[in-house]
Amino acid sequence: MIGAVSWINTRVARINADLVALYRDLHAHPELSFAEHRTAGIAARRARALGFEVTEGVGGTGVVARLVNGPGPTVLLRADMDGLPVREQTGLAYASTAFDPECGEPVMHACGHDMHTVCLLGALDALVQARARWSGTVVAVFQPAEEVGRGAQAMVDDGLFERFGKPEIVLAQHVLPIAVGTVATHPGPFLAANDSLRITLHGRGGHGSRPETTVDPIVMAAAAVLRLQTIVSREVAATDRAVVTIGSLHAGAKENIIADEAVLGVSVRTYSTEVRDRVVEAVRRIVCAEAAASGADRAPTIELLMRLPVTVNDPVALDKTRGALSNALGAERVLNIAAFPASEDVGILAEAAGAPLSFWFFGGADPAKVAAAQENGTVERDIPMNHSPYFAPLAEPAIDCGVTALTAAAFAWLDSNP
Ligand code: ZN
Ligand code: ZN
Repeated sequence: MIGAVSWINTRVARINADLVALYRDLHAHPELSFAEHRTAGIAARRARALGFEVTEGVGGTGVVARLVNGPGPTVLLRADMDGLPVREQTGLAYASTAFDPECGEPVMHACGHDMHTVCLLGALDALVQARARWSGTVVAVFQPAEEVGRGAQAMVDDGLFERFGKPEIVLAQHVLPIAVGTVATHPGPFLAANDSLRITLHGRGGHGSRPETTVDPIVMAAAAVLRLQTIVSREVAATDRAVVTIGSLHAGAKENIIADEAVLGVSVRTYSTEVRDRVVEAVRRIVCAEAAASGADRAPTIELLMRLPVTVNDPVALDKTRGALSNALGAERVLNIAAFPASEDVGILAEAAGAPLSFWFFGGADPAKVAAAQENGTVERDIPMNHSPYFAPLAEPAIDCGVTALTAAAFAWLDSNP
């Protein structure tokens, strides 16, 4: 294994100059969820040029690239491809000025999925060049629409595992503003489940001068928003964790008109099904009770916009993957972190395949800046996080680390030829 590792490292360095150029190109041309046509086309073309058997249009804009290299295990490597409706403010030479052609929103790779796509292509290149050293099947999944939580499910529904086989392991990584050159992971429940709800509180509109003839949805919403804050503090045990965020509240148009309705956008993050069910039920109970308390004619409408499961790293599989990451990067660069409140849909792939998942973060931030911010207690202020308009991973070293990590992890799960 050690021989293979040094081989990976020297080979990866050579592949990377081309990948950095590709990264800048993808970064300058982000596409929203399920609109990743250009990105998918590039991924497909490159994977085909490497000798992979490529299928496009899986689950919308998804791409599956498969390489059968003798008998042995099937290893699934997954990268997501979509950008976000964010106006980029990084000031980078290759910053995005793109707008979505359908909705007209500015688009930015504010979560680093451009880097994931590039790292997966780099890993495929390294694996092809090393094909005499391993045996098995590599299935690379370029997944659409992670940001709306529907891409993984769309690919599963389109027969991903019936058409391309079930893997022994699902491997995936995500860039994060931790020190570049490091990776970080966590066994067991790692990322939170996410339930996104749209709740419409139905009032009865009227003239602002005669509130007694109306049911004011703004007062109803205000009471509901405050009461919803008590779910985590009063209904979740100290040993459990949850987040309830009301990220949007829209109602009314003018000061002398009482609106008909108010719409809340609610995001719930939890780490177990029991807590998830309890918190979502509490949200429902509270908004219904507040509507009744206001004298509303009907109960609120509650829509589940997105539901992502907890992302769980199988502990036994993660041990094996971690070993490979430690060998390739150095054990001191493989960090343990606590469970993280962001969410992912990669767990849907692992669950549908009945395979264990190994998921890790890899760093994109300047280590000196991270250390200084940690010392000053200003990490949140000074280090732009994913989804920020200022999110700007250090391209070259981050790609280097991401390609090395993914390649090394894949090697660990394929059979190695002597
Ligand atoms: Zn994201
Ligand atoms: Zn992301």
